[in-house]
Parts: sequence; C-alpha cells; structure tokens
Amino acid sequence: MSIASRASSPPFYISRSTNSRGENIGNGLFAGRKYGAGEEITYLKRPLIGSLDTQYLLDTCANCYVWTEGAATGTRLYVPEGIQVQKCGGCHRFRYCSKICQKEAWSRGHKHECKSLRSLVNRDLPKAVLACMELLTRRKHGLISEDEWTLVCQLQTHIDDFKCTGTYENIELMAMGASQFSLTQDMFNKDFVAHMYARILTNALTLITPTLDPLGLIFDPVLGHVNHSCEPNAFAMMDGASTSLRTLRPINKGEEIYISYIDASNPFHRRQSELKARWFFDCNCTKCQKGATLDEDTWAHQPNTVPTKFKEIADTILTHEKVAQDLANCVGDTQDERRAAALQGKAFAEYEETQAMQDPSQVIGKIEDAMQLCHQSGLWHIHRQPYAALRDDLIVNLLSLAKYPTAWAHCAKRYKHILPKLYPVPFHPIRVVQTWQMAVLAVYLAGTPEGVGAPGVNMGLIAMMLVKQVLDAAGLSHGKESAFAKSVGSKAEEMMVELKRSLGGSPDSAVMNAELEAQREMLGQMGDWIKV
Ligand SMILES: [Zn+2]
Ligand SMILES: [Zn+2]
Ligand SMILES: [Zn+2]
Repeated sequence: MSIASRASSPPFYISRSTNSRGENIGNGLFAGRKYGAGEEITYLKRPLIGSLDTQYLLDTCANCYVWTEGAATGTRLYVPEGIQVQKCGGCHRFRYCSKICQKEAWSRGHKHECKSLRSLVNRDLPKAVLACMELLTRRKHGLISEDEWTLVCQLQTHIDDFKCTGTYENIELMAMGASQFSLTQDMFNKDFVAHMYARILTNALTLITPTLDPLGLIFDPVLGHVNHSCEPNAFAMMDGASTSLRTLRPINKGEEIYISYIDASNPFHRRQSELKARWFFDCNCTKCQKGATLDEDTWAHQPNTVPTKFKEIADTILTHEKVAQDLANCVGDTQDERRAAALQGKAFAEYEETQAMQDPSQVIGKIEDAMQLCHQSGLWHIHRQPYAALRDDLIVNLLSLAKYPTAWAHCAKRYKHILPKLYPVPFHPIRVVQTWQMAVLAVYLAGTPEGVGAPGVNMGLIAMMLVKQVLDAAGLSHGKESAFAKSVGSKAEEMMVELKRSLGGSPDSAVMNAELEAQREMLGQMGDWIKV
C-alpha cells in the first residue's frame, strides 16, 4: 500500500486477510516488522475525520478534543483546568479551545461547510452525518489526497448486509442529508454517498479520551483496515486528536494486527451477536474458536444449583420477557440452562438500562439490585460480565456522589479480584486507567483526616504505590510521551517530595520497603471488605 510502502522498513502494510477457515474477509493490517509488547506500531497526528457526540459538542474542542471543566462525570481523571471552549461565530455548532484550534479546523475544511451548517443551527445532526459531510466537503475542495481517498474507497461498505437487515433505507436517508447539507451533490451521486456513509458506520472507531471515556467517532482509512479479534494483539490509544496504535503482546513480522471492537470480556454468545449485529460477521477469532468454554462463560456454580427464589424469578422471565430468547444470552437447552440464560439476560438488560439513566442515586439503586442478582443467584464469578461492568459503573456513580469510602472498598475489591483476571497484561489500558482512578481516590483519601477509617492503614503510602504502578505501565499503555503518562509522572514526583517532607529528609529504604510491604498487605485485606 502506498502510505506504508514509502518507508524503507514499513511499520505495517495492508493486505488481503483470511479468517481461520481460510475465507477471504477483505483487507487487514499486518506487522511490517517484529514488535515487542507495549510498543507503538504507528502514530497518527490526527485521524482523517473526527466527530463528537452531540452532547460533547458543548464542552469539548472540536479540533484537539480537549475536555473542559463543564462536565464532571465518568472517569474524567485528568481534565486540564481553566480551559474553556468558544463557539464558532459562523455555524454556532462547533466549539474551540483556542484561536489556534479554530484556525486549524478552518483551514482543514471547516471554511467550506461553516456557512451551510449555520442554516442548520437548530437541527440535531448525528455524528456520523457530520463526519460524512466533512469527508465529502474536504474531498470536493481538494483537501483529501488521492492516496488517502483510494484507501478510504477500499474500505468495506457492507451495503448488501444493510440491505438484508432492512436498514439500507435509513442509510440512504442519512446519506441524502449529508449530501444536501454539504452542498456536494454536484460532485458525488446518491449511491456513492450512501456507500460512503455505510463505510463510516462500519469502519469508524470510538473517539476516546486517555481515560477511555467515549467522546464521538474517528474515521481513518488506516485504522479502518484493522480487523477485530476478541483476543486482540493491539489497541488504539488516543490522546486528544492523536491516535497511537500499540501492541498488547509481541507480534511477529507478517502477523496480522487485531484490535477489539467490543468488550471482549463478555460471554461468547454476546460477543457473537454484538459483532454480527453491528459489523455483520461471525467472529471466528482464536478465542471464539473455543466457543463458550472459557472463563467468560464459566459459572461459579452449575445452573441447577440456583436457589428456588431465583428459579422462580427466571421462570417468570421465561414466560413474560424476550431477554431469555435473545441469542446473546444463550447458555444451553436444558431447563436449568434456560433459567440461567433468563437471569443473565435480566442482568444485562438492567446494566443497559442504567446506561441511559442520569440521576446517580437512581443509577446506584438499580446497579445494586442487578449486582445482588448476580451475587445471590450464586451463578456469577465476581469477574463474569455484567457483574464486573456493573461494579465499574457503581464506582463512577459513588464517586460523583462523594461516597468515597464505599467507592474505595469497591476499587480495592476490583483491584484484587477482577483486574488481574480480566486483564492479565499489566499494562492493558483498562487495567491502567482503573488503577489510576483508584490511585486518584487514594490520594484524595490520604488528604482527609478520617481516610478510610481503618486502623493501621497509611493511605499516603498506598496512594504512592498505586501511582508508581500506573507510572510503570503508562509508558506501555499510553506511550512515554503521552499527556497521560506525563500527568501521572508529575503526580508521582509531587508525592515523593511530600513523602520526604513528612518523613523529614530521605527515608531509610529498608524501613520504607518494610512499611510498603505492610501496606500492600493492608490493601489486599481491603479487597475483601465487602461481600457483593
Ligand atoms: Zn483545541
Ligand atoms: Zn463554523
Ligand atoms: Zn471473537
């Protein structure tokens, strides 16, 4: 491929890919050389197109994707303070953090669409439509190179799949809007635009912050060529507008590079159905080849041991609700397995319901109910989904209500029992970010007189231990030069200075190590403070 082959030893190349059955599955991205774990394969200063979710248009720079203090939910753990965004005076749709950002966006192509967006000021335009408009506009005005455009046009459209599932009409409709609003009808015909819109839907990645909060989508011809595996050897880490494609494990020269499009810790049938519904393929990756036999699908107790109360709940679900018939919840054909499927369906349905809820106290109530279902039915291991995902959201909501000691107990439990199990690679980005979330909480608690209210606990040392751990991993998960790694680094330095001051000079390293060991022990005990 032209983009990769310019370099003498290309970091990657695009070539035909086949699945394990030997079937051709279109193009894929392959390693141009040997890589170790935690290495960068390629760095993109910015994707071809980035588009923010409607809600983030209000508080995020549409050029560098920097957050502002406006929103304070989720794991927004390292928002630079004091930055504000200002509306584009023309279209009133996009906001920028600086004149420089506004200028960059303007010359990248916004100058050609600002005016037409102005007339749409009261219309809610989905991010994929805005992305498609930008793509068409920039191509029309010669702002996308021939090489890049060729690569874009090689991405799969899945048009036949959309037609089969009856969603093509909607695509045509959205594409028609994108075409009209971008004033590019003179350049691209109706079908061409529909194909382009379909490409965006099936090849875009989620635009995320370094702490993995979703902000919108990015569409890029190189990243769009990376195929999926539920056991990926790589991941895309973003830092503002830049993306670093990094290895999760060693990759040999000529080996295909995979990322995961979904939560790969979900049970087999859920992964299969999610990939089929959104990306139209039956996953046959190294993990899926083993079917429902792995950890993700293991029950803590056999379905026939479920307490009577839960058998009754399951039977009610089986007669009244659709969740049990959903293939995503499939467990097996026996009566007990169908009951387990019903309970699993209910747990996932409740998890999904909480995603759309706003009020943290209501969310917490609902999450706690669903966690009780997982716990009391006896079916779930603590790391089995959605039990683990429910706890992640519980922590976020407890933090937003300032319930720090309870949040801490859940963090400690997750740290001990869940993270090493779900993410055995120590620098897995989710493991790093969740450990950072815990470290930030520890730093806060260390500064309060009551701490976590347990004798013998030195939160300052625990905080330092966690920050140090994140620092060691951040170079591999985010890259040494990333804003995230730098921010963790300066926190670590700050804490070291404070520690030295509190100990009156340089601490004796033997004493220090013994104390750290004792606190590590404490941290382990805290991991068992709560049952559910
Ligand atoms: Zn900016
Ligand atoms: Zn504008
Ligand atoms: Zn798979």
